[in-house]
Amino acid sequence: MSDQALNMPKPPACLPVWGAAVRRRSVCIDVAGHRIGGDAPILVQSMTNTDTADVAATVAQVAALARAGSEVVRITVNNAEAAAAVPLIREGLEKRGVSVPLVGDFHFNGHRLLTQHPACAEALAKLRINPGNVGKGAKRDEQFATMIEFACRYGKPVRIGVNWGSLDQALLARLMDDNARQPQPKEAAVIMREALVTSALESAQQAEALGLAHDRIVLSCKVSGVQDLIAVYRDLAARCDYPLHLGLTEAGMGSKGIVASTAAMAVLLQEGIGDTIRVSLTPEPGGDRTREVVVAQEILQTMGLRSFTPLVIACPGCGRTTSTVFQELADRIQGYLRAQMPEWRGKYPGVEEMHVAVMGCVVNGPGESKQANIGISLPGSGETPVAPVFVDGVKTVTLKGERIAEEFQAIVDQYVRDRYGAAR
Ligand code: SF4
Repeated sequence: MSDQALNMPKPPACLPVWGAAVRRRSVCIDVAGHRIGGDAPILVQSMTNTDTADVAATVAQVAALARAGSEVVRITVNNAEAAAAVPLIREGLEKRGVSVPLVGDFHFNGHRLLTQHPACAEALAKLRINPGNVGKGAKRDEQFATMIEFACRYGKPVRIGVNWGSLDQALLARLMDDNARQPQPKEAAVIMREALVTSALESAQQAEALGLAHDRIVLSCKVSGVQDLIAVYRDLAARCDYPLHLGLTEAGMGSKGIVASTAAMAVLLQEGIGDTIRVSLTPEPGGDRTREVVVAQEILQTMGLRSFTPLVIACPGCGRTTSTVFQELADRIQGYLRAQMPEWRGKYPGVEEMHVAVMGCVVNGPGESKQANIGISLPGSGETPVAPVFVDGVKTVTLKGERIAEEFQAIVDQYVRDRYGAAR
C-alpha cells in the first residue's frame, strides 16, 4: 500500500534531496572527459569478469556493461597477455562506437606489466593501484613509484584502492604496536579501520611527492561489513578532499549482496560521500554481469540522486489481485522501458525522469496513477474488468479485454514521443 493517505508530495528526481548533505569534495578529476568529484554527478562503475587476454569476450562484456549504463568499466590487468590485450580491447570498443573509459586494475606485478607494455598505460583512462599488493619493504616503494611514474608520463589519473582483504600488513602491524603502547588501547577493529584510511592517505601523499597532481587521485577503502564501510568512509571523507569511489567489497550474491550494498552506500550517499559507486555482486553461474549496473543505477535513482530509466511504481499486490495480470504487466513495462533506454537516451532527453504507475486495484490505483506521468489501475478481484489510464493526472481512456498490456505500452510510446521528442 502506498502513502497516499499522508498526501506526501514526491521529492524531485534530481538533487537536492531532502535531508541529503551537499556533496562537498572540492577536488574534481577528469577521466577521459568524465568528471569525477566536485559537483559532478555520481558515476556508475562496473568491472568485467572475463579473462582480459580474451579480447573478443572482454570487448563484448565491456560493451554490454556500457550499454546497460556503466559509465566507467574496470578490467583486471594481471599478466603479460592481459596487458598486451588492453590496447586491442580499446580498439575493439572504438570500432563498436563504445567510448566508455577503461580502468586497469593492477596488483603485484603492475610495475613490470606497465614497463613491458607501455601501450597498455596509454590505452587506459585510469589506473587502479592497490597499495597493499604492491610489494614488501623497499621494493614496495620502488614498485609503487614505477606505477605512479607511468601514470604521470601518460597523464592518467590513479585510484588508490585499499581493500581490507589485502591491507598493507606492515602498516597494520605498526599501528597495532603503537596502539598497544597506549595507556588505554583501542579495539583491534578500530585500528584495522584506521589502517585502511591511513594506507589510502599515506599512499596518496607518496604519489603526490612522486609528481602525481592532487587532482589526479581518487581514493577508495573497501570493506565487506556495512558498519565498517560507513565508519571508514566517514573518516576518509573528513580527512581529505580527494574524490571517493564507493563500494562494499565482496557484497555477495542475490538479494543479500543488493541489500548489504544498498544499506551501506545509501547512508554514505545521503551524507554526500561517494563520487563513483560500484555494486560488487557475485553473479549466479552464467548470470548477467550487467545486473550490478542496474542495481547501482537503482540505488542512485530511488534516492533521487540521478535518473537513468523511467521509474515504474507498482504496488506489491495483495488479496485483491488474485490473477497474475497485474504482475505480468508491471514486469513487462519495466523490462520494456529499460530495453528502450539505449535508444531513448539520445532521442528523448528527459525521458529517464518519467514515472509510470502500474497498480493492482482501485484502492490506491487511481490516486497513485494520477501522481505519475502515466498510470494504469488494473481491475482487482471482484472489480469491473476495466483498467482506467491516467496521463498527466487526467483519466484519458479505459482499457478492457485481452490486449490491455499491448494497448498500454502503445500509450506509453505515444506519450514518450509527444512529451520528450518535442524537447529536442
Ligand atoms: S492491489 Fe490494491 S489494495 Fe492491494 S496493494 Fe495493490 S493498490 Fe493496495
